Amino acid sequence: GTPTALMVGSGIGAERGILIRNGEAVQTLKDIKVIAFDKTGTLTYGKPVVTNIITLLSNEKEILTVAASIEAGSEHPLAHAIIEKAKEEKIKILKVSKFEAITGKGIKGQLEQDFIFVGNRKLMDDEQIDITKIEDQMAELEKEAKTVMIVAKNKKAIGLIAVADDLKPNAKQAILAIEKLGIKTAMITGDNKRTAQAIATKAGISHVISDVLPDGKVDEIKNLQKQYGLVAMVGDGINDAPALKQANVGIAIGTGTDIAIEAADVTLVRGDLETILSAIKLSKAIFKKIK
Ligand code: ADP
Ligand code: MG
Repeated sequence: GTPTALMVGSGIGAERGILIRNGEAVQTLKDIKVIAFDKTGTLTYGKPVVTNIITLLSNEKEILTVAASIEAGSEHPLAHAIIEKAKEEKIKILKVSKFEAITGKGIKGQLEQDFIFVGNRKLMDDEQIDITKIEDQMAELEKEAKTVMIVAKNKKAIGLIAVADDLKPNAKQAILAIEKLGIKTAMITGDNKRTAQAIATKAGISHVISDVLPDGKVDEIKNLQKQYGLVAMVGDGINDAPALKQANVGIAIGTGTDIAIEAADVTLVRGDLETILSAIKLSKAIFKKIK
């Protein structure tokens, strides 16, 4: 019967690097219509590296000093990238007051008399900081799949910092194989449309949902469910947890946060996206035998 088959399935799954927390979800996996992927840390390594510093109203050293000092208070992977670069360049980190993270947009803080913002277009829009003159430069970098942060001081953009976060090596193969099974793939990200599209194209993902604020991921899963039926979500972050619960099958990346793993039905122990395929095949194998 089902429990025995599941136990055998669990054993085989474990061997293949798939940890099953919820057997019912594994049964659902064989009928899934869409698999939605988080971008950062799921499709990509989640370890962005600074690739470009563009000077607008300042020099490279000041831009990096200001940005790294503010980002020193942030846990975000983008912050790590900037701090690493500052370390490489032997930049001195300055003391910041009134630090505040603005979810899905960036961060702000005060450096002596100066008001600093580091973040995306949404943040600059909120703060009425004009970026029309730098749109073309940003677009150019974003087409290269880079994420661009604007560094602003006292309501003026002083520089841009671009980072790249590479796709995991077998992401493309995994997506291709999933699509071959007739399952649609989607990407959900807080990043901007152009960067999201560039990465999705590299990965072979057809459906891109970008500019999603952290709270919005659940609604995007609900939309996919309305449109297509059974949906699986793959994610690694704290802010993926509610979406992993909303999905019919939540799949966590084993190298991700504990909160995501606890919210998920299945964990890919090694974070290897190709094991999703093994999980689907396993689901089909187990539950065919039962019928
Ligand atoms: P994701 O996990 O898809 O990258 P987030 O909601 O964490 O989505 O971030 C969305 C966007 O908000 C980032 O692409 C970036 O533009 C901006 N952002 C978030 N945190 C920071 C930060 N610490 N510094 C600069 N920009 C940030
Ligand atoms: Mg992530």
